Amino acid sequence: MATIKKKALIIGAGTGGYPCAIRLGQLGVDTMLVEKAKPGGVCLNWGCIPSKALISATKLYHKAQHAESMGLSFGSAKVDMGKMQVWKAGIVKKLTSGVQGLVKGNGAQYVTATARFLAPKRVQLDYADGKPSDIVEAEHVVIATGSLPIEIPGFKIDQKRILDSTGALELDHAPRRMLCIGGGIIGLELGQTFQRLGTELIVLEGLGRILGNVDADCAKLVHKQIEKDGGKVLTNARAIGWQERGADLIVRAEVDGRLQEFATDVVLVAVGRRPVTHGFGFEKTGVKKSDRGFIIVDNRLQTNVPGIYAVGDVAGQPMLAHKASHEGEVVAEVIAGKKAVNDARQIPNVVFTEPEIAESGLTAAQAKEEGFEVQVGKFPFSVSGRAMAIAETTGFVKVVTDAKDARVLGVQICGPEASDLISEAGLAIEMGAFAEDLSLTVHPHPTLSEAVMEAAKQAIGEAIHIQNPKRR
Ligand code: NAD
Repeated sequence: MATIKKKALIIGAGTGGYPCAIRLGQLGVDTMLVEKAKPGGVCLNWGCIPSKALISATKLYHKAQHAESMGLSFGSAKVDMGKMQVWKAGIVKKLTSGVQGLVKGNGAQYVTATARFLAPKRVQLDYADGKPSDIVEAEHVVIATGSLPIEIPGFKIDQKRILDSTGALELDHAPRRMLCIGGGIIGLELGQTFQRLGTELIVLEGLGRILGNVDADCAKLVHKQIEKDGGKVLTNARAIGWQERGADLIVRAEVDGRLQEFATDVVLVAVGRRPVTHGFGFEKTGVKKSDRGFIIVDNRLQTNVPGIYAVGDVAGQPMLAHKASHEGEVVAEVIAGKKAVNDARQIPNVVFTEPEIAESGLTAAQAKEEGFEVQVGKFPFSVSGRAMAIAETTGFVKVVTDAKDARVLGVQICGPEASDLISEAGLAIEMGAFAEDLSLTVHPHPTLSEAVMEAAKQAIGEAIHIQNPKRR
């Protein structure tokens, strides 16, 4: 057993850990990144990337079947799910294999091993190939161990009939019926993916509405779309258990306090994720966790133990890949002795449902809760020339401003390409922009981005392509 000395050790090569290692390498810090499974973590292997591949393929399939009004028909479109999975796996492989190259190319060391704390800055590395274990002593340790799906009583995941997101992403066929427990991001992104392939979808959401953490008007449009596509959304609905009845899987649930049964073929459990702070000797570190199990960090991502940091899902909400990467880069600068802090004014939230939702900053409701008097500008895609030309006119852009000086407090976009359109809003909020800054920036025509400009104009009563509300 050899003892290796390192300046920085990162545990976990997901979207928090690997950008941290790359940046540390760039900054000339002697760094080791250790990962027990595949590089890229949940995002690249079992989350963002594979789900977006399936989402885009099924959207294309759906669009091809509904293009008659554009004068197009493609006969009977066919799905080869096996081939789609091979295509998806190819994208994942290309991206994950790039991670090791990037880490090494920037001067950091990548090691495949299971890390286990023996003491706060003493970590044992166990190798799967039987090689003797090593000990790493590091001045700085970054915990980037991510999160795992939450399981609920009565629905043990078997990845055959009771699936979590990992199992759903690997399905080699579209089930005839799918019941999603949880009307959050994962349940709806994946539920709608299979719905586009013809799966009958039922969503059981425990709270009073789906997508509880996004703007209510955006969530309503997704709710409507699921129902328009033949699905059912039940709110105040909690699944209790299931049993087999013939070939059917019968789910028992309490809906608005009344017991109901639902027949399905598979169940997707998507009720949230929990931080991973077990299985790697975390208790030996003395690092403190919050009541919800997240590692507590300061604005430099440092825990209560000097020299131990945490980034990404394990360090708190929101559990988003881009938040993890940003934190990884900040912590690298901190370790390298730079004056870096984690002071992002906004972290965009994007939901790849149909229609897409993307948000940056505060919703009107949140801004009011924070004591702002707000002025909201709204521009619907139904009057956007570009949205009409791509036949995707559902949705809107909302620009939430401070009524006092028209500073942009938040932007919510629901509709085509919302996920790409939102970055303009992110920049505006980071730079403390006013509605005039968005409104006076010349946007190219005809594009969807004009909707952001028009919504900003409407917030100050200057919209050109939509009526301005009468204000005092
Ligand atoms: P979520 O928190 O988005 O949604 C879970 C939903 O399940 C909530 O609406 C909750 O009220 C409901 N719920 C909880 N217990 C329930 C029960 N017993 N019965 C019925 N409903 C119940 O969680 P998720 O969809 O599992 O996603 C997990 C995390 O992954 C999220 O934090 C999300 O940010 C992240 N993620 C992000 C993206 C993206 O950025 N596009 C995509 C996928 C996942």
